[in-house]
Amino acid sequence: MRFPVNEALLDALRRANGHDLFPAPQDGAVLLDAWFDGVAYLTSDGRVLTNQPASGEFDDSLKEADDDFAISVIVRAARQTGIEQLLDLIPRTPDSATVCASCNGSRSAPLEPVCRACSGRGWVQSA
Ligand SMILES: [Zn+2]
Repeated sequence: MRFPVNEALLDALRRANGHDLFPAPQDGAVLLDAWFDGVAYLTSDGRVLTNQPASGEFDDSLKEADDDFAISVIVRAARQTGIEQLLDLIPRTPDSATVCASCNGSRSAPLEPVCRACSGRGWVQSA
């Protein structure tokens, strides 16, 4: 999915996360988060690229993250950097959805920086 990024947000992220250990893989991309065997970038056209696809297996090449993974990385980056505007990228609660019962809409659950039940959306689609 494409997130509605803007230059101000990318600049804020660049100031918070930009360093030489993780050079941007393409023009305008910014580091969102890095962890023990993974990395994720936000591109200037609003995609999240990661080396950890949905299967969870490690891969050297960067691919577009699936929606759940992309949203959870954005929520984690917002927590780590304090850039609350990152949360504005996440789709608003649709009429057909309900508040996530696991995190009560807070996007975080006890002992988890990002709620697993809703991937940090704060809402889930009603069955
Ligand atoms: Zn939740």
